[in-house]
Amino acid sequence: MVVKNIPSICLSCGGCVGVCPHDAISLEDMKIIINESKCNGCGTCVIFCPVGAMTLEDKPTNEVER
Ligand code: SF4
Ligand code: SF4
Repeated sequence: MVVKNIPSICLSCGGCVGVCPHDAISLEDMKIIINESKCNGCGTCVIFCPVGAMTLEDKPTNEVER
């Protein structure tokens, strides 16, 4: 699983940046950037986000787990 940000919903509040235990989220130019090589799909940011702008998705099957 990997997390995706939905920019049309996201308020760029930056709250999720601080809750990620793997330091996989950053806020750049008021946009949320997810480092997919760090994200392990724990869902902490999905639960945290007050507006539901983080969503968990299956990784494409052609993507090799590293
Ligand atoms: S907590 Fe939600 S609204 Fe705030 S920056 Fe993260 S994804 Fe966007
Ligand atoms: S799912 Fe977990 S590891 Fe991935 S960005 Fe959210 S809090 Fe970080």
